[in-house]
Amino acid sequence: MNWRDLMRDDHSAVGVKPFSGSFTQQEPIPDAGIAAAVALMKSGRLHRYNVKGNDIGATAKLEAAYAKYQGSLYCLAIASGGAAMSISLRAAGVKPGDPVLTNAFTLAPVPGAIAAVGARPVLVEVTEDLVLDLEDLTAKIITSGAKVLMLSHMRGHICDMDVLTELLTAHRVTLIEDCAHTMGAKWNGTRSGNFGLAGCFSTQTYKHMNSGEGGFLTSDDPEFMARAIIMSGSYMLYERHGAAPDAAVFEKVRLVSPNISSRMDNLRAELLLSQLLKLDDNCERWNARYRRLAEGLRDVPNLVLPHRPQAEAYVASSIQFRVPGLGPKGAERVLAGCAALGVELKWFGEKTPRGFTSSHHSWQYAEAQKLPQTDAIMADLFDMRIPLTFSLTDCDQITGIIRAVLKGELS
Ligand SMILES: *Cc1c(COP(=O)(O)O)cnc(C)c1O
Repeated sequence: MNWRDLMRDDHSAVGVKPFSGSFTQQEPIPDAGIAAAVALMKSGRLHRYNVKGNDIGATAKLEAAYAKYQGSLYCLAIASGGAAMSISLRAAGVKPGDPVLTNAFTLAPVPGAIAAVGARPVLVEVTEDLVLDLEDLTAKIITSGAKVLMLSHMRGHICDMDVLTELLTAHRVTLIEDCAHTMGAKWNGTRSGNFGLAGCFSTQTYKHMNSGEGGFLTSDDPEFMARAIIMSGSYMLYERHGAAPDAAVFEKVRLVSPNISSRMDNLRAELLLSQLLKLDDNCERWNARYRRLAEGLRDVPNLVLPHRPQAEAYVASSIQFRVPGLGPKGAERVLAGCAALGVELKWFGEKTPRGFTSSHHSWQYAEAQKLPQTDAIMADLFDMRIPLTFSLTDCDQITGIIRAVLKGELS
């Protein structure tokens, strides 16, 4: 039976009832955040530096609170995750034409941030477990001569950070982490974002905190952070930051770092301050849903879940699985079959970019590169968002649908 027969049949006959939840529905902003945002709007003081006297604005408070959460010396609240990445590359000294290593499987803002500073993305293969292939990385460090790795923890999968940092130290390559999907996650007890020069986070609606748009840049390096703060558009008001280096550090950089206005505002900061208090709880709630989904998919024939090592304390706000041998037609049918039953999957093997792009073939501003391993993995790879508005019972219903559709396709 294929999904068309499934559609024609009484759904209950095969035990699947269409799912009616929304894959894009996030939870509301906490009441305390809404109240603080309303009070701020009444005050009119939305710009981060528009504070009364010696008051500390919400953005500066948020920087201090996030630095504490992250365990980093410095934190800059910023307009987006993409801005955090491009500013960190520039502040790290990347110049136009420089090669910058990154994952071949990631989201468009990552190669985009590299291109935004005029640098050249050098794409590194990923493994079947969706993490950076450290062998290919080693080869490409040597052939490209790149001095910076923008490591994307794509979909929250973390490579062996102990092996990676050793390798990067040996080759004198600077690490910047794209933590858009690993806010709250750890490797061997160290928070994702604390392994290299800087961590870049996004607080855009689909990430682990939601301010519509927004992000953080974290680091322990004072001069790097001073540059980044000036670049973010601090003018000479950098002393009004919540987790910044001493004013003396800015003396050296303040007149030679271009302003790329990318500030966060107090309104978003209020929304985020209220959510930071719930972040760890929410990470646990994501993982409970992930475990339930993974359990429901574990023994589906032909379906492969990525292996997640003990050292990886992940935050699974999405789930990925591969179905080797399905082929493009089969994958299209699985997508359509699941969609007809209310389950929105993304398939990374799609030729034409839809919704968002994660295929390096769509990044034509960068030099075309051969990545056969990544292409083969993405051809079989499915992806699903896990909104916190779904219950554990919803998760069971969803896996029931995926099972039924795959069973129909593969029989
Ligand atoms: C969303 C995302 C970003 C960037 O976030 P924005 O805030 O949208 O700029 C970076 N990397 C990955 C992998 C992402 O999914």
